[in-house]
Amino acid sequence: MRATNVGRRLTVAVVLVAMAGCTRTTAPPAGGAETPSLGAGFRYSVYGPKRDPGSQYWVRVGEEMAARFPGAVPETIWIVGRLDGDGVCLSFPVEGAHPLVRGEATDRNEAVLDSFDRNGFRVWLQVEPGHAPVEKLIDLVLARYGHHPSVVGFGVDVEWYRSTTEPEGEAVTDEDARAWVAAIRAHNPGYRLFLKHWEQEKLPPTVRDGILFVDDSQILPSLEAMVAEFAEWGRSFAPAPVAFQVGYPSDRPWWSRLADPPRQIGEAILAAVPNTHALFWVDFTVIEVFPPEPVAATKPPIVGVKIYEYKGDLEVLFEQWRRLGITTAFVSAELAGREDFRAVAARTGTELFVIFPVFYAPDELKRDPDLWAVTAKGERAKDDWVEFACPTREAFRRARVEQACELVRRVRPAGLSLDFIRDFVFWEMVAPDRDPSTLPDACYCPHCLGRFAAAFPTAAGVPVHDPVTAAAWIRAHAASEWVRFKCDTIASMAWEIARAVRDVKTNTKINLHVVPWRTDDFDRAITRIAAQDRGALGGIADFLSPMCYSFMVHRPPDWIASVVGDVAREGRCAVLPSVQVGVTYREGETFSVEEFEAGLRAALAPPSTGVVFWSWDAIAADHEKAEVIRRVLGPGGS
Ligand SMILES: [Zn+2]
Repeated sequence: MRATNVGRRLTVAVVLVAMAGCTRTTAPPAGGAETPSLGAGFRYSVYGPKRDPGSQYWVRVGEEMAARFPGAVPETIWIVGRLDGDGVCLSFPVEGAHPLVRGEATDRNEAVLDSFDRNGFRVWLQVEPGHAPVEKLIDLVLARYGHHPSVVGFGVDVEWYRSTTEPEGEAVTDEDARAWVAAIRAHNPGYRLFLKHWEQEKLPPTVRDGILFVDDSQILPSLEAMVAEFAEWGRSFAPAPVAFQVGYPSDRPWWSRLADPPRQIGEAILAAVPNTHALFWVDFTVIEVFPPEPVAATKPPIVGVKIYEYKGDLEVLFEQWRRLGITTAFVSAELAGREDFRAVAARTGTELFVIFPVFYAPDELKRDPDLWAVTAKGERAKDDWVEFACPTREAFRRARVEQACELVRRVRPAGLSLDFIRDFVFWEMVAPDRDPSTLPDACYCPHCLGRFAAAFPTAAGVPVHDPVTAAAWIRAHAASEWVRFKCDTIASMAWEIARAVRDVKTNTKINLHVVPWRTDDFDRAITRIAAQDRGALGGIADFLSPMCYSFMVHRPPDWIASVVGDVAREGRCAVLPSVQVGVTYREGETFSVEEFEAGLRAALAPPSTGVVFWSWDAIAADHEKAEVIRRVLGPGGS
């Protein structure tokens, strides 16, 4: 029913030069036999997944998807041309083909297509044409990759056909469709065309021969709504084959609750749409749903330090870091905004991550008290300096995304370090003997409760205007749904920020601060209270960074390794623990050098990716601990 440009690149339209498609005269007779078996696999684009785990991974995803449906073969929509200004950028070298067609310096597809050939895949090569002539693109793409037996056809994302700012697209006429099919068959009579949109009106009114109709609708309220909409799509194009893209982040609230989302969505579609030719899980969430094997830590550890302000000599600072083996600085937006700081960082090869608080929002709360998150006791989500905004307000969330983009645009850091991307709790004060039932739970504001009631049929009866009654009601009737809702709310925010900043700067890394609670600690408080589903967050971030401040939370040094192991198991991504250096919240007590060193070594044990020290001021103030760092991590260290 609806499409969205969420997560799509926002491209600035400059001058619209509508290019008339050249008419082809050759139209060899259709000779291709239909391939009757179901295809199941994934959609791939360079901008979809947060990282490309490589061709073996994609082969595995195709095979695992196909294995879910009897008789299915692996099939993929492999995007080789993405919108680029008014035209297209093809992911292989192209020279002088057309003013609106650009290529990349190296070929991104040849090797993976070889893998697909060897593994019995069916591959559609797709473009987002913009104003570039489609027949020209057909010829360029199929001339280059037509020798691969896995290739079965060419696809056009009609949302970007003569459309460059919004995924609307110009309607494809019967004449267009006939000409494109002919152009494709000129390369191989067995090839077919797919046309993709979420609106039937954008697709050719009568021409069906040689065409697969792909629906990529999203933002659907439930599986039932999706199936109903897809069934309508199937009926309107029958008996022509249809296919579907599923697994969008915007639909995560309901599909993430399924035990096996690809299988259950696929089976429901197949039961309702008999002319389904193929099912494709989209690349935006593929890593979350088909997790890659954890990467072995073979690279030298990342050694980071958190620093919030600095007034001294920058040359001295960076020289000290070099001596201690510190390669990465996690800095405040203020410090990152200093050109002199960035210049020395760049010269010394020090990577910068900017610390970006998300739901900790004291300034915004001062301006707009309605924004406060509300606890189960009906109180503001405030404990000492910890002040949290409600996580579901659209305007606040949009503003945060824009601030993150602005920061990345201005500073162009190696990464963003997302802090306070969770629900309210002053975890720093939670000692091991804390009664789990006393942890604060949020947010029970009418906005959150209303959303919860709308998202879950079982929660429809929740009283939305009384937090205390609502909390009791939820505990009795929808406790697990509530945890799911909380976690989805947080994960979707992380996803929105990550996607947006990667659109500004593609290789922006995301480090995400997680509360240092293992899966079962405090009655599963990591999800129940903090709302951090590390499985989902690990699919979004490059690093999960548990704040392993062992002395602060009264834990022994080796506890750090158990937290890192737990985060790695749950998150299936690189884990970058942060450790404390100074004494905070336990003033007057001694955090010994020996205890610090034991904690540091525990933090570096596999599968850790490195360590981040909190904070530079504490290191600068403690010569003995600085010496430990130099000895363990400095040049020639042990
Ligand atoms: Zn709320």
